[in-house]
Amino acid sequence: MKKHERFIYIFIVILPSILAVIGFYDFLSNRANQQHKEELEWVASLHKNQMDQFISETKISLDILAVSIEEEINNLDKVQSILKKMASQDPRYGGIYLLDFEGDLLVGTNDYLKQYNLRDKQYIKEVLLTKDTAVSDEVETLSNNQAVLAVATPVLKNEQVEAIIVSHIRLDYMKNIMRVLTPEHSIFFENAKQVPVFSVNERPEASKDELSLKYPLSQLPWNLVISTDEQKKNSFIGYTLLFAVVFIVVLHIIYLCIKYIMLKRQTNMERLQQESQKLELIGTLAASTAHEIRNPLTGIKGLVQLLNEKYNDQEDEFYFSVINKEVARINQIVSELLILGKPTAQKVSVVDMKDIIFDLNPLIYSEANLYSVDYKVTLPEQEIWVKVNVDQMKQVILNLTKNAFEAMSNGGELRLTILKRENSCQLSITDNGPGIEKEKHDQLFKPFFTSKEDGTGLGLVVCKRIIDSFDGTIEIESEFGFGTTVSISIPLQTPNE
Ligand code: ADP
Ligand code: MG
Repeated sequence: MKKHERFIYIFIVILPSILAVIGFYDFLSNRANQQHKEELEWVASLHKNQMDQFISETKISLDILAVSIEEEINNLDKVQSILKKMASQDPRYGGIYLLDFEGDLLVGTNDYLKQYNLRDKQYIKEVLLTKDTAVSDEVETLSNNQAVLAVATPVLKNEQVEAIIVSHIRLDYMKNIMRVLTPEHSIFFENAKQVPVFSVNERPEASKDELSLKYPLSQLPWNLVISTDEQKKNSFIGYTLLFAVVFIVVLHIIYLCIKYIMLKRQTNMERLQQESQKLELIGTLAASTAHEIRNPLTGIKGLVQLLNEKYNDQEDEFYFSVINKEVARINQIVSELLILGKPTAQKVSVVDMKDIIFDLNPLIYSEANLYSVDYKVTLPEQEIWVKVNVDQMKQVILNLTKNAFEAMSNGGELRLTILKRENSCQLSITDNGPGIEKEKHDQLFKPFFTSKEDGTGLGLVVCKRIIDSFDGTIEIESEFGFGTTVSISIPLQTPNE
């Protein structure tokens, strides 16, 4: 690989691939994180509402209980039967107890509290202080190994705390409800001091990428904390790989296209270079050999003439005519090569283009007669000054009219027109011969392109070389079946220059 190709490869394939893959991965993981967060928020709000509702339900039912035992406070048997009835109706209660205002147990639905004195418990103090329901901020484990959360409600008489109802909410019951809601999320509640109270779906260890969110409850001074596992990165690593493969393939296609275009441009340039080298080679070759060929040719021509006078029966006559024709052909090629070989810097003068045409007209007319072609010339009235080498300009016109005549072997019409434009002299030579097929159009000015059996394929090359040296242009327009027009444009000059 060449240096600049490697450079292009890096900039078109490698860098964009790396950037795109990183960008794509980032996009996927951001999107996944966002989705994940939204899901967590949704789950958290579900649990928060559930917990708030649970607590408020419990508070309400305990308030009702407090009111209903207010009158019976001295009839402990009756109270106990009410408590038992309530505990048996609602599975959330592990036990319900009535304490006196000092925190000593009066009566309960079971015996677990018999050996406890609750007066030091924070929630009992809170009830005495606020005369309102309070919830324990830690989980207690009873002697039967049951984990419970205590809720205490005052029984009020004349605004005074007469007794306290303590209910134990079964933690397993609460956890079951939460687990049913969202089995794969780990949640826990922490109290106002940010100490965890209890958790659901606890995971053995928290990973670094763990996403966790906190939500305050409205019924308690607690926070709900929710967290989940590291997200499943594998799924989008797969997508990223697929994306990378497709992207890299597309980039390679683009790279190959660019390389192809570059290569094509390079070969085009090389071809043009080769063509001009070819011409140059022909030039030098022609310059060095044309004279060498011409001299012996003149000798051959003279000797053939002599032989022809000696042997002049019909068969010999035919052979000599063929030899003469071939010698003339060699001469033609040699003289065209000679023009190509000549340096382009040559003797130029400012002349009237009309004079050149007047000089050539007799020659063209006689040729036209020979081919039974109708020759029409249209010239403007004013002089048309151009800076050319007269002999070479004549050579161009003769080459072009010769091509036209050769194209109209069965007769036709040849028009030579000169127009004076603002800055240029326009010369056009039009025939109504067979025209040129489209696919041959860009071959016409190439050396040795010919469709004729005895053509040299150098006539148009010579014309273009000469016109180029006059700073002019030459173009061929031809419609197959309708004829051909060759247009030459040469810059105008002022006569005194
Ligand atoms: P040559 O005349 O020796 O073939 P040229 O360079 O003069 O070489 O012309 C090249 C080719 O261009 C011709 O062989 C012919 O096919 C085509 N051509 C040129 N002029 C005309 C024309 N007026 N009508 C049809 N074909 C033409
Ligand atoms: Mg020709």
